[in-house]
Amino acid sequence: MTELALLQNVRPNAGSVTDILIQNGRIAKIAPEISDLPADVTLLDGGGDIALPGLIEAHTHMDKTLYGLSWQPHSAGPTIRDKVDNERRIVKKLNIDSAQRSATQTRLEIGNGSTHIRTHVDVNNERGLGYLEGVLATQAAFKESVTIQVVAFPQQGILASPGTEAYLNEAAKLGIDCIGGIDPSVIERDPVKHLDIIFGIADKHGLGIDIHLHEPGQLGAFTVELIAERTKALGLRGKVMISHAFCLGGVDEPYLDRLTQMLLDNEIAIMTHGPGQSVYPPILKLSAAGVILCTGSDGIRDSWGPYGNGDMLERVMWLGYRSNFRRDEELAIALSMATTGAAKALGVENYGLDVGCDADIVVVKGETVAQAIMDRAARRLVLKRGKVTAADGHCLV
Ligand SMILES: [Zn+2]
Repeated sequence: MTELALLQNVRPNAGSVTDILIQNGRIAKIAPEISDLPADVTLLDGGGDIALPGLIEAHTHMDKTLYGLSWQPHSAGPTIRDKVDNERRIVKKLNIDSAQRSATQTRLEIGNGSTHIRTHVDVNNERGLGYLEGVLATQAAFKESVTIQVVAFPQQGILASPGTEAYLNEAAKLGIDCIGGIDPSVIERDPVKHLDIIFGIADKHGLGIDIHLHEPGQLGAFTVELIAERTKALGLRGKVMISHAFCLGGVDEPYLDRLTQMLLDNEIAIMTHGPGQSVYPPILKLSAAGVILCTGSDGIRDSWGPYGNGDMLERVMWLGYRSNFRRDEELAIALSMATTGAAKALGVENYGLDVGCDADIVVVKGETVAQAIMDRAARRLVLKRGKVTAADGHCLV
């Protein structure tokens, strides 16, 4: 049976007013005032607002968000190690249920217009695969409403947390998308060994890689080189992401150019959430060079910090603010990191507002895209494959 929906009176990417006909979850036709449709077509009123492709949350940690729980004052010390140790204490104290935590964040993100999410999920020798199983349950429960990619993430290290490697190997068999990694030098003290383990698991199971790299300057840049070498050697071109990559903002121009070429040659994507403190990748320079860029909330109100609300338009605004973007065309680049750039980074197929694409669409008020980012009005409609998942800022699933 053919399912038809007509999204009327919208402006794709703030262009001219049109209708979008959706057939069996895909965009079938884009034209003004589409008529002569069967009586059972579902009519959706876009109110003259902007239609954007569904927003993509490319990096978060929904297994351990504290969003919706009673307020937890931030209690961690300044270093990554301090935060890892503090988190261990807090999640134990609160007895976190990752299925419930991830479901809460999923609804939050859907209400704000996300149609795709990549989440890292802790796998370690204390929680084993428990958190992963909880998030996989959420992934299955919401599969008609949002696409969730899962990264098995050794937050506490692999070498620094004995037993974790075996859990990652088990995790790889559970239908996940990527193997994660973290600071091979600062946390692990042995970058070659750490990277060989995670690339080995990914290669064996045909998975992608998404590695947290907070290491600064030359140290982080050396790790980028090691990642690029392994990506090439194992033929993982287009399947590797480096999250944060602060080092790209902390090396001199000629070295940055060499690293950029390595990223391009291996189609390694870069995720930045616009960190409040660190130097971070130079977005305009990397974008002009053609590097695949995306953004994400990172942790939302968890033991790592009190920020975040699962609104990717707001993340885009913060990214623009942090980067001193003022011009519409600069803000458009920031938005692309939560739309088309993120789709490339996550390997999302049939993405966009063209005929034949999946009807993953968010409708939001604004005269221009830049204004929509600044106003961040409640999303009028959110569609996943043509089905309404949120209206007026509220998740309906
Ligand atoms: Zn993260």
